[in-house]
Amino acid sequence: MSKIAMTTPLVEMDGDEMTRILWKMIKDELVCPYVDLKTEYYDLGLENRNATNDLVTKESAEATLKYGVAVKCATITPNAARVEEYNLKEMWKSPNGTIRAILDGTVFRTPIVVKGINPCVSNWEKPITLARHAYGDVYKNTEMKIDGPGKAELVFTAADGTETRSLIHEFKGAGVLQGMHNTIDSITSFAYACFNFALDTKQDLWFATKDTISKKYDHTFKDIFAEIYEAEYKEKFEEAGISYFYTLIDDAVARVMKEKGGFIWACKNYDGDVMSDMVSSAFGSLSMMTSVLVSPKGVFEYEAAHGTIQRHYYRYLKGEEAKSNPVASIFAWSGALRKRGELDNIPELAAFGDRLEKAVIDTIESGIMTADLSRMCTLENVTTVNTLDFFKAIKERI
Ligand code: NAP
Ligand code: MG
Repeated sequence: MSKIAMTTPLVEMDGDEMTRILWKMIKDELVCPYVDLKTEYYDLGLENRNATNDLVTKESAEATLKYGVAVKCATITPNAARVEEYNLKEMWKSPNGTIRAILDGTVFRTPIVVKGINPCVSNWEKPITLARHAYGDVYKNTEMKIDGPGKAELVFTAADGTETRSLIHEFKGAGVLQGMHNTIDSITSFAYACFNFALDTKQDLWFATKDTISKKYDHTFKDIFAEIYEAEYKEKFEEAGISYFYTLIDDAVARVMKEKGGFIWACKNYDGDVMSDMVSSAFGSLSMMTSVLVSPKGVFEYEAAHGTIQRHYYRYLKGEEAKSNPVASIFAWSGALRKRGELDNIPELAAFGDRLEKAVIDTIESGIMTADLSRMCTLENVTTVNTLDFFKAIKERI
């Protein structure tokens, strides 16, 4: 069998710990036997980030802007313990944060649905994709605790020195205060990312905020989405047979519970944070979730939604065989290869992405799966396998 040729390299961002082990196994077992793989390789493993003063992270994001599609392994975000463990020069920033700032994106997370792993919400038949705005709000806030009576005001000083003031509260006693912001540029690119992703995946798009209470802040999000939709996407959505609608966040939460799934739910940063955790755990598992960063300029970065599975890695170092679930990392590769195939007009490559995903799902639905899934699986004949045997079963089905 001849291998599928590629014309443009994928930007490959290698990572850390157990996912780094899975990464190599996926390439060796599931990609390279079928695809004449071309990548531009960036080693985002913590040792190399430290050796390059984290320049490699920045370079990998810039390469993504150049080539358009990246595939990223999970990486350690260092804390004090990691600084000691890896003898780091600095507590380097989160690679995801650095990459996101350069690519200016929205993160889309979708549960991978298989028979036998049932969502807690019994009417959810299709995955619900969360589109999380990843800039600002409470994640870039300024907070204050105040000890006694006084007046709190919001003050904006324009570039020409003009001040605009607005009373927040006349405190009679102690209290707490919080200031937060967002930018029109960031909200606009969030809206474009959501509309483009809905068209790309041919799914309806929901957007929800609390604009009845937040008449300027949240209302601005609502207005920007509405303006862009009317001006640029309404016709395209109608042609594609999909819809966009806006509703209040509490209404959205109630409706999500009664729907069948199969749509994209766009959320502000905080709502997206908590709702994606709810949706993913209701669908079964962290390792059964895809994650893709989409930029309004048509740049895509595929990754696994989970971390580096540190506990499994320490057991692996002690000689235990690899038993982790590689599905999210496989889907990062299949998603990136399919997108590369679509952009470069290589139908066999795009089809290979589909074939690989189908083989994974067929394997699990035939009852062969890793321990994290077999624990909750409702199929009758379930065989628990290690990662390599899971790959063998997938290869038989590719
Ligand atoms: P984690 O990698 O998400 O794993 C937490 C636990 O979830 C694991 O111990 C395991 O549970 C289960 N799990 C997650 N993925 C699994 C898989 N593929 N197969 C089977 N079980 C899986 O979180 P962590 O180990 O606490 O974090 C390790 C590092 O990941 C941290 O340094 C953090 O900075 C980094 N991180 C990176 C990203 C990213 O790059 N995208 C995201 C989050 C965290 P059991 O042990 O019970 O089996
Ligand atoms: Mg969270």
